[in-house]
Amino acid sequence: MTFSEQSSMGLRGGVPHGGRLVDRRLDVEEAGVLGSGSLPWLALTAAEAADLRALATGAYSPLTGFLGAKEHESVTASMGLPDGTLWPIPVCLGIPDGLRVDADQLLLRGAGGELVGVLEVAEVFERDRVAEAELVYGTTDPEHPGVARVLGAPARAVAGPVRAVVAPLVGPVGSRALTPAETRAVFAERGWSTVVGFQTRNPVHRAHEYLMKCALEMVDGLLLHPLVGPTKEGDVPAEVRMAAYEAVVGYFPPERVLLAALVAPMRYAGPREAVLHALVRKNYGCTHFIVGRDHAGVGSYYGPFQAQELLASLAPEELGIVPLRFDNAFWCRRCGAMATGKTCPHPDRDHVALSGTQVRAMLAAGQLPPPEFSRAEVAELLIGASRS
Ligand SMILES: [Zn+2]
Repeated sequence: MTFSEQSSMGLRGGVPHGGRLVDRRLDVEEAGVLGSGSLPWLALTAAEAADLRALATGAYSPLTGFLGAKEHESVTASMGLPDGTLWPIPVCLGIPDGLRVDADQLLLRGAGGELVGVLEVAEVFERDRVAEAELVYGTTDPEHPGVARVLGAPARAVAGPVRAVVAPLVGPVGSRALTPAETRAVFAERGWSTVVGFQTRNPVHRAHEYLMKCALEMVDGLLLHPLVGPTKEGDVPAEVRMAAYEAVVGYFPPERVLLAALVAPMRYAGPREAVLHALVRKNYGCTHFIVGRDHAGVGSYYGPFQAQELLASLAPEELGIVPLRFDNAFWCRRCGAMATGKTCPHPDRDHVALSGTQVRAMLAAGQLPPPEFSRAEVAELLIGASRS
């Protein structure tokens, strides 16, 4: 069924990418049996472990495992799997020199040595990391944090379907890490037919709140879906962000918003990652997705609207989720309201707008930014964190 057919039938939530939600969970007992055997094993980095969890829960549907050579080449060169399904970024698993993969199965272990999953070995291949950096990230500059991770990965990669233990995570952040099946169940229970997803790796200020509210005026529910996997140095820690998101959620009717965490690594791949973020939210059951300025960008590698343009260039049925494109928002003193350049005719001097650098300096000095910029509860949390 196509997205438009499904929408016109009034079905709830979006169809997962590729048609069905992948479920590659491994039960704990079987994991115990596998772990006690003599199979070769690989210790995963935090980013690889986050990718594994996303594969097992269906967040990366239709992928069922780490990509092989043919898939890597096709995703890198033409942003699609060999069967033509849209897929923007390779999800690969590097193997260090010296590790022999001479069995049908490879055990995957977490940082503490615990067994987190198993990979059915399909192939070992040489990953063209330079082509990947150039075509997916648009640069081979090792200063780019996503590119640094690609170029720093082992040259050999192991591919094949995975199964993984999807243990409930704990703590204020982990307990929010719902699976796609779980968010879909919440949407169904609340009777939401249309749901807009909001991706963020930063604290949410009034501008983001405004975008989410604009979007929510048009749909049934909002999934505030911060990414909490490995990010780059200098990003605000997930625990602090989660407390700040909880404060912002207080400004929405509770029956219209769901705050959940997405455990996935940030790649900073700009336009290509905006497509990935949209597809992942489609898998979580969203029908709409907010894309702001320089979505998933870093530094000045991407133009402010490059991500929006790439999404707009894709056929709606290929993407299967509606991108909602927004410009930066601000408080306008003359409008007496939140606005964007699309809705406010007044010059910059009438706008309350602060750069990220200005805000960080204020918070570090213990100063509250103006209430038109940031909710006081949010700013206080960030001040506490920047001084601890
Ligand atoms: Zn104005």
